[in-house]
Amino acid sequence: MPNYNKKAVTDVSVKGKKILLRCDFNVPMDKDTGRITDEGRITASIPTIKYLLENGAAVIACSHLGRPKGEWKQEFSLAPIAENLSGHLGLTVKMAKDVIGEDAVKMASELGEGEIMLLENLRYHKEEEKNDPEFAKSLAELADIFVSDAFGTVHRAHASTEGVSHYLPAVSGFLLKKELDNIGGAISDPKRPLVSILGGAKIGDKLGVISNLLNIADTLLIGGGMAYTIIKAGGGKIGTSLCEDGEIDNVRQAVEEAKKKGVKMLLPVDNLAAAEFSNDATPVDVKSDEIPDDLMGLDIGPKTVAMFSEEIKSAGTIIWNGPMGVFEFPKFAEGTIAIAKAVADSGAISIVGGGDSAAAVRIFGLEDKMTHISTGGGAALELLEGKVLPGIACLLDA
Ligand code: AMP
Repeated sequence: MPNYNKKAVTDVSVKGKKILLRCDFNVPMDKDTGRITDEGRITASIPTIKYLLENGAAVIACSHLGRPKGEWKQEFSLAPIAENLSGHLGLTVKMAKDVIGEDAVKMASELGEGEIMLLENLRYHKEEEKNDPEFAKSLAELADIFVSDAFGTVHRAHASTEGVSHYLPAVSGFLLKKELDNIGGAISDPKRPLVSILGGAKIGDKLGVISNLLNIADTLLIGGGMAYTIIKAGGGKIGTSLCEDGEIDNVRQAVEEAKKKGVKMLLPVDNLAAAEFSNDATPVDVKSDEIPDDLMGLDIGPKTVAMFSEEIKSAGTIIWNGPMGVFEFPKFAEGTIAIAKAVADSGAISIVGGGDSAAAVRIFGLEDKMTHISTGGGAALELLEGKVLPGIACLLDA
């Protein structure tokens, strides 16, 4: 099992130190006006920044934004982020003209205690995503300590997420620590029973998660589009529902594995199905293994909701990744809403993986009722797969 117990920013002395702080400022922007349309990722970074500034550090923040693919393009400049961040902090965030160039080096060397600057877009250099050692070394030379706080990128070995750790002591910021404590804690030392709810469209994307959870979970509840391949693999009729025929053998293996390991794997027993993939379609409640040839399953049905909710009620820890149906269509969102409410009311430690399940919980207004909603889709999934993530492994052990 990978080690999630890593040193955090509070475990090192930052006074008088220059800190290279990897943030996730990859915020959505209006293409025409360049205005930031959702500043959530900027505000989320503030606790770590404030802690560093208040404790006498000089902060050299950095991030990627969009996909400039190694080219200097004005529309990917981080200057609007510096301006936005200045407003939130009530002090000027100095904007460097480059990343590891003359301006950044001079600005970093002159930066004083309690001051903050922002480097230009890391991905202006193609060396960033290639984890080029020379580029990483130049970045590291700007600072004394590396603080990693961009959870959404820790599954990538990039210069700013992993490379710099070869030259600087590396610790987590508060955002990353929260992810490690919650997701890492839930998979390494869960309060039992550990019930995992998996959904979403693609079984192929989630087989790695299923395989790892079979080693640690007590119960797996599987809904969403991914369930139909499993139902078909077991001999059920699934009509025109989503199916990945190429995964049937892998799915059978996973089902066998669950039996061998004594993990309870529950599949839907009924589904809301429809003739077409549309919110205007008429939902029909059908048995999950007898879906008529001309219908597709688009949500779990009421009997499945009741069965899953019973398991959720008695859980000690819940890990949820992926919606139970096409929750974007109100007619087929009921299953996901009901499961979200059951999780919210369960009293269990509840961890919601990033991506669509996190979006669903927010849309339903249940955010505050969950123990932790992950900020990273891909990174959360890889943590659940039990993979060693380069941006975590490179941090100092606690
Ligand atoms: P994923 O990114 O794999 O977690 O999948 C999320 C997507 O799965 C959402 O956009 C859902 O609309 C979709 N989804 C969930 N259940 C179904 C289903 N039964 N049929 C088609 N799409 C589904």
